Amino acid sequence: NTQAETFEFQVEARQLLQLMIHSIYSNKDVFLRELISNASDALDKLRLEALRGEELRADTSDLHIEIEVDDEHRTLTVRDNGIGMSHDDVVQLIGTIAKSGTAEFLRELKESKEGAKDAAAPDDLIGQFGVGFYSGFMVADQVTLVTRHATESQGTRWDSTGEGTYTIEAVDEAPQGTSVTLRLKPEDTEDHLYDYTSPRKIKEIVKRYSDFITWPIRMAAESTAADTAVDAASDTASDKEEEAEPAVEPETLNSMKALWARSRDEVSDDEYHEFYKHISHDWNNPLETIRMQAEGTFEYQALLFIPSQAPLDLFMRERKRGVQLYVKRVFIMDDCEELMPEYLRFVKGVVDAQDLSLNVSRETLQQDRQIQLMRRRLVKKVLSTVKDMMSANAEGYATFWREFGRAVKEGLLDDFDNRDAILEISSFASTHDAEQPTTLRQYLDRMKEGQQHIYYVTGESRSIIESSPHMEAFRAKGYEVLLLTDPIDEMWIGSVPEFDGKQFQSIAKGEVDLDTEEEKKEGEAEREQRQKDFAELLSWMTKTLSEQVKEVRLSSRLTTSPACIVGDTHDVTPALENMFRAMGQ
Ligand code: ADP
Ligand code: MG
Repeated sequence: NTQAETFEFQVEARQLLQLMIHSIYSNKDVFLRELISNASDALDKLRLEALRGEELRADTSDLHIEIEVDDEHRTLTVRDNGIGMSHDDVVQLIGTIAKSGTAEFLRELKESKEGAKDAAAPDDLIGQFGVGFYSGFMVADQVTLVTRHATESQGTRWDSTGEGTYTIEAVDEAPQGTSVTLRLKPEDTEDHLYDYTSPRKIKEIVKRYSDFITWPIRMAAESTAADTAVDAASDTASDKEEEAEPAVEPETLNSMKALWARSRDEVSDDEYHEFYKHISHDWNNPLETIRMQAEGTFEYQALLFIPSQAPLDLFMRERKRGVQLYVKRVFIMDDCEELMPEYLRFVKGVVDAQDLSLNVSRETLQQDRQIQLMRRRLVKKVLSTVKDMMSANAEGYATFWREFGRAVKEGLLDDFDNRDAILEISSFASTHDAEQPTTLRQYLDRMKEGQQHIYYVTGESRSIIESSPHMEAFRAKGYEVLLLTDPIDEMWIGSVPEFDGKQFQSIAKGEVDLDTEEEKKEGEAEREQRQKDFAELLSWMTKTLSEQVKEVRLSSRLTTSPACIVGDTHDVTPALENMFRAMGQ
């Protein structure tokens, strides 16, 4: 009745589809995980809308996912009776890739393929970038999606071979939710490994990747019309009898157990990892799994993960926090800001609270004392997990710090309560080792006798700082200096006075006194003499350079350079000065 419209995929979507069609992932089975994951999200959303009392044209009494294989036509369909999509949703969500960082990702991928220096290997990059719905094109040469949004009466049909364009058509009689039908590629027929029309293969994949999904995943009984027709000739009498029985109950393939509610020894690492992939949309295993259980008056369970790679949007404006809130097993919201501070935004997971109302909203959460208490505990647990990692899994910690250190240091600015814990898990480049960063604890252990402070210098890069004349006296003394080159370092170092009783002291500010008491006494007379000898020159220089500097004075900090510029103790650092200037202040 209506005309099908043809649309072009957005450029980035087209590029990703090409990657899919040419099978860059070695494990194709994951396409099913992605489709089931989307279906599960859609069911969560519908239940939530219903709970909120939205006006819906939908039945929520038997929410489920259904998989159907058709041997004869070589199709596989994943169907859900969830929230569905409107016409505009389909164009927006399926025709474009809204994920922030996509353009950046594709640029990096191109560079790495061209063998540019410093580029990550293509496999690493691709693994990092989940492609969700598009992964269907790894195994299918045509994908058809029929969907109806729960607030609408008209449905939408989307169709594509993944080659640049797709068509969209309105459909009058669309069932509730979404169905995705894949026309399986012929080349996979020969390969037994990839026979996605085999119910056994499907069961195996669901069990492996999607067992924890909290909605039933059903498979229509094997005796589909097509099966019976094809197999009739070879069927034995007993088989026929079985198949003749009316309406065989569909089989539920997954156990549906909420992973976070099960005890740790009941759940394998693999199960945790697959769950992580479902909630995070990451394709890699997590670096660390954190399980928490609080009983008593305020009961909750939490299952948190530290990813093994920073997301592409970690430092972008529209970045999200990764913890989902459930109340009594019911999904309530994604990226719950109240549960995790901004500086731990990379932590993914689920928190399931038993005593909250199902009607909580973002606004009421802000006032909720239970939520605040929970957040405090979650933060402490994440920080202590990282601390444990430092001794138990040094390599894991190094990865953690490389990927997330810059974000974690933001916490030094605004999480006053946990400042010491954050300093404890922080690492910094230092003059002690050209490659390995050091923790503050290690720095303290190496402090020379008589050394009063933790010395640091901020700047743009290690090489610039290291050749700075400020460094000379410290090098001569054998004092270690922290080299703070992250822009964020400039921000926190001014407001964090000390670590474990030792003050932070910039080597580029004020009078840095490196001499011990004895050295001071010996030098006293000599210094006075020198001061006299140079008094005239110094006052002339101060006058001549009055536009540029406040004062010219003799220095004890230089060994080979003739002069250096220092700031007043309370001045902002040069880098911060540049930053303010750039911001127009
Ligand atoms: P992601 O799941 O990471 O957002 P996908 O490519 O898997 O990315 O899906 C893109 C979007 O399309 C989803 O975020 C969702 O809004 C929509 N979508 C996909 N599948 C379904 C479905 N079965 N029901 C409703 N919406 C869906
Ligand atoms: Mg998805």
